[in-house]
Amino acid sequence: MPSPNFPNLPIRITKLSDIWMVRDDLLPFGFGTKWRKVSGIVEYLQKNQIKKVLIWGALHGNYLASFTTILRYFGFQVETISYSKDPKLKTYNERLVNLHSHTIHCYANRKEAEQSFSERTKTFEGLCLQEFGIHPAQSNGLRPFWQQLEKKIHEILNGIKLESKRDERFYHTNKNHANMATLVLEIGSGASFLSAYDYFRDSSIFVLGVMVGEKKATWIPKIESLQKKLGLKIQTISQEMILNFTEKTSPNENISGISNSQRSPFTNNTTRFAKTRSKDIQSIQEFYTSTNIILEPIYSAKSLLQFVEIQNITGTFPSEPKLNNKNENFPNFNQNLPLFYLHQGGHVQHLDLILEVFFK
Ligand SMILES: *Cc1c(COP(=O)(O)O)cnc(C)c1O
Repeated sequence: MPSPNFPNLPIRITKLSDIWMVRDDLLPFGFGTKWRKVSGIVEYLQKNQIKKVLIWGALHGNYLASFTTILRYFGFQVETISYSKDPKLKTYNERLVNLHSHTIHCYANRKEAEQSFSERTKTFEGLCLQEFGIHPAQSNGLRPFWQQLEKKIHEILNGIKLESKRDERFYHTNKNHANMATLVLEIGSGASFLSAYDYFRDSSIFVLGVMVGEKKATWIPKIESLQKKLGLKIQTISQEMILNFTEKTSPNENISGISNSQRSPFTNNTTRFAKTRSKDIQSIQEFYTSTNIILEPIYSAKSLLQFVEIQNITGTFPSEPKLNNKNENFPNFNQNLPLFYLHQGGHVQHLDLILEVFFK
């Protein structure tokens, strides 16, 4: 059977009062930008007539769910090694991984899974995908996206320039050939950010990466090796392009976040990373009420809610999110540049967070 064509992955941009949101969350199954990454891998496998893929990662994560589903759909044999701390936990992602793996082994922790993967690579005949699918083919999948996105951003900003010729900021930035927009995206493995950085380096678009999982200090030393594995040019990245997400804790808040966090039955609550605080859940609900856009708690809500505030003017219906003027967390953030935020999806796993909205 010939394999199906890759779906169209259109770029859609929604203007919220102050920011433009690049809507990769609208791509099928909420897989977001993972579609673009895996498209490069699929192309690589087809070109090299490789039929089998060995893949490993967190059972409840977006990476394994999207990659196993898409690879299976395209006719590849998928062998999966996963890990989960809670053997009973059921999630959307976990269902997808189980359904789309031809064989699957699940371990109790990352270390055991990694060992098992490394053992299996010795005899596996096919592509052994490194953690998070880090591979030069991933960059090939992302590059056309940055290219089209750049074009779209220019179209949007040129349109505005024509409309409001007296708008200082657009005049100013263009005259000096300086940056004309900021593109914000989160750093998980960092593959998207590094690929965007590589593409936009000499362009008028300033790429800003937001650390959500690990700390800047531990991620920066990994950059060179990641660039190598992604087949990107090795280059140093100026520190001001990477923002540390700092979780604000108020004095009467438990540092562990346990007392103030809601443990959703649908998220992997055994990891601190995946815990969502009730304040964040409320913001996600308000954001959804005012924009119809679902943020997800691990990536998009963590970073975006630092940039915007939702003004609850009427007390009942939140207004459109506005850029927050006091970004004490982000001292290097240039307020004057138009901001494009890439929503990378992943929200379907967390639909329960907005369920309450319908019963209010
Ligand atoms: C995978 C993922 C990311 C991070 O992408 P990296 O390239 O690994 O940094 C961000 N957001 C969502 C929703 C994701 O699923």
